[in-house]
Amino acid sequence: MSTITASRISEVVEAVPTGLFIGGAWLDGDGGVPVEDPSNGSILAEVADATPAQGLLALDAAVAAQKDWAATDPRQRGEILRKAYELLVARTEEFALLMTLEMGKPLAEARGEVAYGAEFFRWFSEEAVRIAGRYAVAPSGGTRLMTMKQPVGPVYAITPWNFPLAMGTRKIGPALAAGCTVVIKPAAQTPLTTLALAKLLTEAGVPGGVVNVITTSRSGAVSEPIIRDPRLRKLTFTGSTPVGQRLIEQSAQQVLKVSMELGGNAPFVVFADANLDRAVDGAMLAKMRNIGEACTAANRFIVHESVAAEFSERLAQRMGAMKIGPGIDDGVQVGPLVDAAAVAKVSELVADALDSGAKVLTGAKTVGDKGYFYAPTVLTDVPPTADMFHQEIFGPVAPITTFSTDDEGILLANDTEYGLVAYAFTENLTRALTVAERLETGMVGINQGIVSNPAAPFGGVKASGIGREGGLEGIEEYLETKYVGIAL
Ligand code: NAP
Repeated sequence: MSTITASRISEVVEAVPTGLFIGGAWLDGDGGVPVEDPSNGSILAEVADATPAQGLLALDAAVAAQKDWAATDPRQRGEILRKAYELLVARTEEFALLMTLEMGKPLAEARGEVAYGAEFFRWFSEEAVRIAGRYAVAPSGGTRLMTMKQPVGPVYAITPWNFPLAMGTRKIGPALAAGCTVVIKPAAQTPLTTLALAKLLTEAGVPGGVVNVITTSRSGAVSEPIIRDPRLRKLTFTGSTPVGQRLIEQSAQQVLKVSMELGGNAPFVVFADANLDRAVDGAMLAKMRNIGEACTAANRFIVHESVAAEFSERLAQRMGAMKIGPGIDDGVQVGPLVDAAAVAKVSELVADALDSGAKVLTGAKTVGDKGYFYAPTVLTDVPPTADMFHQEIFGPVAPITTFSTDDEGILLANDTEYGLVAYAFTENLTRALTVAERLETGMVGINQGIVSNPAAPFGGVKASGIGREGGLEGIEEYLETKYVGIAL
């Protein structure tokens, strides 16, 4: 049962402009792209389908606006971002509902994403006025060394479907603060949130051409000419590693500055001395946030053999008791996966693990005959050779394996091409710090199942990416350092 009425849904969806937002105007595309509600397969809306030529038109607009935007006072850019933050918080319910409808996450989580996403505007509104270079005397004396920070120039931002708001604000916030203009392309499956955001940014005072939005069913054909255009100066991408690799290749032609937030395969390591209450709470968050469809989702549970049975039982009890259903229904904790292909992939990975000898403690099945639901699943005795230990599951499945020594646990944790985030649970400070140093990831959560924080540098190493978003580091991705040598 939901307290959200059909007329409320129509009101919120119909308030979203569905055109291409280019140079401050809403334009038609070449036909439309349907946006599906994954909880029931119904079509929520159709958004404009941009052609490659219209993609370049959006870049024209960003290029035309770049000089004036870079010349605005930092305080003015900060004030606009601050206003955008306030508007977003005031419209939490509308943005949360849109995300639940187009992506599937439960409303409570969607509200959490609005709070998280809005914080990037607040954080970077505060950073806009703290962009500074330095001044030094050369070691040999005489020459003075000065650096200045300048906006890199027009940015192309490509975002995924799993966090439709926050992945956009995490890029738009620092770009605008630094003085860069933006063309943003959301995933075709979840364009409504970004289109609603463009409307909000205009209300906040962002001038026409500073943020442009293109939606398209042909992401490759539309993106490549933009990336290869010498007027573009920065590409920021969040999505899968194979697509990121292709985009890095395309970026090589004009030696584009790139940020890549790519896939993950997070280990969740529970040591013998862990506080199991905290470990199970942390596991629920690390695994079930966003229905497991997060790059930061715990993908491999590596648990000390002395506590594995108790940890597994307790996790299975919690996961098995979760309420599954459409994200707009009251009390739902597990919404649908994004599409039929996601359910098929999760089912295949589970079948492979079972063939390899894994045992089911809970779940391991699809749910219902409408929408794309998969039951929260806990598997034990999963051999480290199983496919799900080497690929992103992107669903509500927790595979558990065991280890006996710290060295063995860390070896297992690092046995992946990815390096986004790792979680470790221990009550021993020395072990926590040693493990944090030895884990080959860009981020580590100690005794906590979530690391995302607008004030912290988010990003990965190895096949998980290049660059950092958020924190003091986030704005650097949109700035160039110019050195000026001055002879005295
Ligand atoms: P994806 O298929 O790589 O898509 C991501 C974005 O790239 C979408 O906007 C997509 O548009 C676009 N795209 C796809 N092919 C393209 C091409 N050839 N040229 C230009 N753009 C292209 O990934 P996804 O399945 O949507 O998202 C899930 C992935 O994102 C997971 O691997 C997850 O780990 C990763 N992720 C990483 C982070 C992080 O910060 N590290 C955060 C969230 C998600 P269309 O969908 O419209 O084609």
